[in-house]
This record gives sequence, structure tokens and C-alpha cells, in this order.
Amino acid sequence: MHLAGKRAIITGSTSGIGLGIARSLAGIGADLVINSFTDTDQDHALAAELAAEFGVQVDYVCADMSDAQQCRDLIRTQPRCDILINNAGIQYVAPIDEFPIDKWNAIIAINMNSAFHTAAVAVPMMRAQGWGRIINIASAHGLTASPYKSAYVAAKHGVVGMTKTIALETAQDPITCNAICPGYVLTPLVEAQIPDTMAKYDMSREDVIKKVMLERQPSREFATVEQLGGTCGFLCSDAAAQITGTTISVDGGWTAL
Ligand code: NAD
Repeated sequence: MHLAGKRAIITGSTSGIGLGIARSLAGIGADLVINSFTDTDQDHALAAELAAEFGVQVDYVCADMSDAQQCRDLIRTQPRCDILINNAGIQYVAPIDEFPIDKWNAIIAINMNSAFHTAAVAVPMMRAQGWGRIINIASAHGLTASPYKSAYVAAKHGVVGMTKTIALETAQDPITCNAICPGYVLTPLVEAQIPDTMAKYDMSREDVIKKVMLERQPSREFATVEQLGGTCGFLCSDAAAQITGTTISVDGGWTAL
């Protein structure tokens, strides 16, 4: 329980990878702030369920990560921020000449700019507290590209670059900043891409998963939210105190190709 007494703020954490990370960190004692932009009864019930299951304090805070002020207020209104996980993200797929401007702006705002706004507020809080961990959930697409994902690839490469800069600015503080680069993980974000791809290639669901998605992933297996949660737990441990400004790929070998 090495995170007892630490407060972890995880953006976009009512589903998928963010929820998996929340569960992993609660499992090693962290109090949580979970977030989405929906503010439903289920969101508040989820916070209560996690608190009961893990015996930690869990607050749900509604904030839209496409809005600079709401990103900053999410952190500013907390009594402390020991661990910041920038996870919220969306996807949209289209050729560059057909890519809708509003989709480009939303992806850059949610997937990249939000991490700037939250970190800008969190770093001084972490300095004052004398400890901090910033973990940005980038992607294999922060290190490589795919066609039709111009906004996503641009945002994730931007996050990787920003991670290095934050690490240099905090190198002499007891703060680290790293990016995790997952390959494919079967979450609602990926599920949503399957029907379109089935229609586009006239393929079964199984073939889309094996022949299109996992074709890039040499292990031919999805990474899991538990594996990503475990990687975050490691980055929050003392063993990782000198790991900063880098990327950790959890991608079944994708970026080794
Ligand atoms: P998901 O759709 O399951 O979860 C995304 C989360 O972000 C949701 O909880 C959603 O509520 C939240 N979110 C979306 N827009 C938001 C907004 N405006 N304000 C606040 N919250 C918002 O997706 P996921 O697959 O769990 O993705 C999580 C992160 O992991 C993303 O940054 C994604 O790019 C990254 N990632 C995912 C994969 C994958 O294969 N699933 C691979 C690499 C990287």
C-alpha cells in the first residue's frame, strides 16, 4: 500500500484505461479523484463503489477537458495533488483533406492541451508538497503514425514532447513526469472503431481485431487496463524516482518493428 495518503487525480476515468488505472492505484492505497464531463448518477455511484471496494477516499469531479479553465479548476480546487494522470482522450479517423476542423480542434484540446493546463497547476502544488508524479497516457501513436489519424498522432506526439519539457523543468524537484505509450487496448474508444472498419473492409469483427488492429501489434494480443494500471503504480514507486522525461511502451512490440 505504498500510495496510502497520496491523492491521485485521473482525467477521463469513468471508463476504459482511466478506470483501470484508478482501480490499480486505489488497490495500492491511493485516494482518487475520478473525472468525466458527464456528471451522471452512474458517475457518482462509481465513486462510491470504488471507495467501498478499496477502502480509500474517492471523489467524482465533473470537468470538460476540452475547456482550459475547467482543466485548471479540476486541479486547483483539490486540497492536494500528488499524482496526476492525464488520460482523457478521444479519436476521430479521416483523411487529411476531409478531416473536420471541429474534430481536429477537439482532439488537440482534449488529448494534448488538457495535459498542459492540468500540469501547469499541478507542478507548483507538487513542489509545495515535496513530491509528485505526472503520468501522461500518450500512445504508440505518440511515437509512430498511422494514416487517417492526423489529429490524434499530432496530439500524442505533442504530449510526448511536453512530457520531456516538464521533466526537465522539474528535474531537481522530487517530481517525475513520464508518458506511457499503449498499443491497442480493448476499451470503448477502440470498440467504437470496430463497426466502421468492419463495413469499410467488409470483414467480420474477429478479422478486424486480428487482421487490422492487432496486425501492428506483434504479440497479437491487446494490452490490458490492468497492465497500464500496474505501469502507473510502478512509476509512482520509489524504484522509479529517477525515471523521468521518458516513454514506456506497453504495446506488445509495436514500436520495436
Ligand atoms: P475511453 O473512451 O474508454 O475513455 C476515455 C475517457 O475520456 C472516458 O472516460 C471519457 O469520459 C473521457 N473523456 C472524453 N472526452 C472528455 C472530455 N471532454 N472531458 C473529460 N473527459 C473526457 O478510451 P480509452 O481507450 O480508455 O482511452 C484513454 C486514453 O488512452 C486516451 O487518451 C487514449 O488516447 C489513450 N489510448 C488508448 C488506446 C486504446 O487502444 N484504447 C491506445 C493508446 C492510447
